[in-house]
Amino acid sequence: MNDVGLPRSAVLRDARPVLRERGQREVFCGLTSIVWLHRKMQDAFFLVVGSRTCAHLIQSAAGVMIFAEPRFGTAILTDRDLAGLADVNAELDRIALSLLARRPDIRTLFLVGSCPSEVIKLDLAKAAERLNATLLPRVRVINYSGSGIETTFTQGEDLALKAMVPLLPATDARQLLVLGCLPDIVEDQFRRIFDALGIGPVAFLPARHAQELPGVGINTLLLAAQPFNGEALRALAARGAMPVAAPYPFGALGSTAWFEAAALACGVERATIDRALQPLQARAMTALAHYRQTLAGRRIFFMPDSQLEVPLARFVSAELGMDLTEVGTPFLDRQMVGADLDLLPATATLSEGQHLEQQLARVRALRPDLTVCGLGLANPLEAEGLSTKWSIELVFSPVHGFDQAGDLAELFARPLNRKARLAA
Ligand code: SF4
Repeated sequence: MNDVGLPRSAVLRDARPVLRERGQREVFCGLTSIVWLHRKMQDAFFLVVGSRTCAHLIQSAAGVMIFAEPRFGTAILTDRDLAGLADVNAELDRIALSLLARRPDIRTLFLVGSCPSEVIKLDLAKAAERLNATLLPRVRVINYSGSGIETTFTQGEDLALKAMVPLLPATDARQLLVLGCLPDIVEDQFRRIFDALGIGPVAFLPARHAQELPGVGINTLLLAAQPFNGEALRALAARGAMPVAAPYPFGALGSTAWFEAAALACGVERATIDRALQPLQARAMTALAHYRQTLAGRRIFFMPDSQLEVPLARFVSAELGMDLTEVGTPFLDRQMVGADLDLLPATATLSEGQHLEQQLARVRALRPDLTVCGLGLANPLEAEGLSTKWSIELVFSPVHGFDQAGDLAELFARPLNRKARLAA
């Protein structure tokens, strides 16, 4: 093992050539992650301090109905705020306090920075400190940035979780901590599997209630469930937690490898691992066999968007037989995706960053059967006769674990089936 907890083989494969590009990018900003974070943390409210554009972004991304009682909103910076004619700090305190007075169910308030709040250098860390002085212990205020400059949309989750790390109580207890926002249904399935493996206690970050903060310390084994939480993982490691390297739990083989890595790190015996995981793996492989017929040999191109690209490329290539043309990722964080990277075929082009025009030229030249890309690129590519899959759908949907393996494969198969039906 090296100092970041990766198998040695993953480090040796670092020699794989990477096409690095810088230029125009086509991504959503980190505010987008509020859509799934607010669903997970049921006692939390996300208050974006931003512009009308920020409000429109999360409102339309979340598709909130008018009668819903949402757990996110935007404190809109007006021209007077931006021109320095109003006391923005006093306004923000007033809005936060009146919100909390109306909504006693809110126990954690996230103040989320945006491009406009950063441009006017509004200090949200100080605002959180100020509000905490009057609101703790009933409500805790946490701040992080969801700003769109040079970020990807999943980084919002990473920064939200990183902001929670200093608040976690210290513990020497031996435990497993799963890092990354998972739908409740997936978390419940994972708990049952950890129980069957005899692994416990197991904590999740984030938990269903933001106030339930797991402990962290030198006897904490850290298992990442999402590849985009590198900053949070390193903050937890700095507090003593030990990362467990594993491919991500996508598909039958990925899920087996993920649980197996946790079990081995926890000292579970081989026979117990096989007894717990083999039936689940067999069932998931049966579900995948159906989709393999559609997808094997089909060529797929991943454009850089969600940072799930490398683990998903491993899944579609190793478990569905798809042919990888290019696997693009916004940032290649080897500590986070080394184990999946190690399993990609050497023939796939790996690219980091984006120069949109050059990358689109490669897509047009290759004409893959399926292009995984951001929302803004999907329609233009479809108009050129190319099938696409929205990468954001792969983040919004429950796709982790054995029971979701078939659903994950279905997400890749659906655009191709649709095209075949239209052609018929
Ligand atoms: S944070 Fe920046 S990129 Fe995101 S919606 Fe607001 S202005 Fe746009």
